Amino acid sequence: MTDALTLFDDLLPAETPVDSRLLQVRTVYAEPAAAASPRGRQVLARFPGAEVVEVPSHWQIPDLHGNEGNVERWVRVKTETLVLGVKKSVSVRPNGRSADFIAPSTANGCAMACAYCYVPRRKGYANPITVFTNIDQITGSLRRHVARQGVKPEPNECDPVSWVYDLGENSDCSVDALVSDNVADLVATFRELPTAKASFATKYVNRQLLDLDPQGRTRVRFSVMPEADAHLLDVRTSRVSERIAAVDDFVAAGYEVHLNFSPVVLRDGWEADWTALLQQLDDELGDAAKAQAATEIIMLTHNEQLHEVNLGWHPQAEDVLWRPELQQPKRSQNGQLNVRYRNHVKRAGVDRLQQLIREHAPWLRVRYAF
Ligand code: SF4
Repeated sequence: MTDALTLFDDLLPAETPVDSRLLQVRTVYAEPAAAASPRGRQVLARFPGAEVVEVPSHWQIPDLHGNEGNVERWVRVKTETLVLGVKKSVSVRPNGRSADFIAPSTANGCAMACAYCYVPRRKGYANPITVFTNIDQITGSLRRHVARQGVKPEPNECDPVSWVYDLGENSDCSVDALVSDNVADLVATFRELPTAKASFATKYVNRQLLDLDPQGRTRVRFSVMPEADAHLLDVRTSRVSERIAAVDDFVAAGYEVHLNFSPVVLRDGWEADWTALLQQLDDELGDAAKAQAATEIIMLTHNEQLHEVNLGWHPQAEDVLWRPELQQPKRSQNGQLNVRYRNHVKRAGVDRLQQLIREHAPWLRVRYAF
């Protein structure tokens, strides 16, 4: 074990140490090349008290991963640990629903712990943030991909004009931006790409992002749900009211700001609570935000394995997430057993929510419902 400051004392750049309840980092597991890179040194400088533990690969850290059912342990790991790695594959993947493409991840894992989250599916539940330090390689790959697409030939549900690249498939970019400048570099990259737009969903309000001058080329999708659901399911996130209060400020700072109704959980009283949420949005968002707003509706998908894990630490969440009488199984590509609302239940839920939107927030365009 090596002290970060001993290893890199003369080399660490000047950085303001991170001051967040989510991240009180004591240990950074690092691939040597990642720790020695400029981005890796930046992360270490933001957490000057952390010890650095060399690891051969960010995928193989037995102390960290797993711990199913032991949420105290996960939260401690998520709070006190970071990982630095080099991303091997920096390829762009097609998507077509929320975004046209999925950008290569610049991070993997999350300091928050939502009960329905699918992000830990590959590294286990105590899945702290891994920062990928080869950011120049990733932004270079993105620039070349955007150039190859040319101008978007016709509008689609992702965007009428721009190719949309999702940045945050495996992490929450607002928290990632506390840890390193990867998100700032991505926002700066898309600022100079007039045919493309970055997009990420978030459940955390990081006001440092207001200084990044995105010039309309980055879409932030604030995920919202009724406070009663969030209280039960969104563990460690910013409160929904705080996310809503941030929308106008992010629009004023040059972001396109959309909403994510995600996940929509069907339970007793859901219609009344979504009505109240839509009325709150109608009351609190300014005209500029409403004029550009759109939302996605994503009905809950759950997973048998995650259900078993949640029963071990948060069984109340499973009262609303695991509803076999309303759900049908679907075997996923990786062999896991997912469940989602039965077709007619889902259709009725989506239709009812769209009707509520028309009644209470008629300015809100539904970009897609799934
Ligand atoms: S904020 Fe997003 S990535 Fe993080 S735990 Fe919640 S759903 Fe998962």
